[in-house]
Amino acid sequence: MKKRENRIDCIVCGKKELSKNEIGLNKKLLGREVYVFYCLDCLAAELNLTVEKLLSAIENFKEQGCILFE
Ligand SMILES: [Zn+2]
Repeated sequence: MKKRENRIDCIVCGKKELSKNEIGLNKKLLGREVYVFYCLDCLAAELNLTVEKLLSAIENFKEQGCILFE
């Protein structure tokens, strides 16, 4: 089995291996010191936002050249 560093699962639903964008958004919205991460669905529920809002936020951060996103 291949060892994966930085493998992060959603704390709520257990979704495996969150994407770089999902992790980046957690850091942006919850603070860089966060140690639990949410997938987009659970993050949206947590923040009372829609997934669409989160996706457009990711696009905005990317346009700003934020290195947390790809
Ligand atoms: Zn989740």
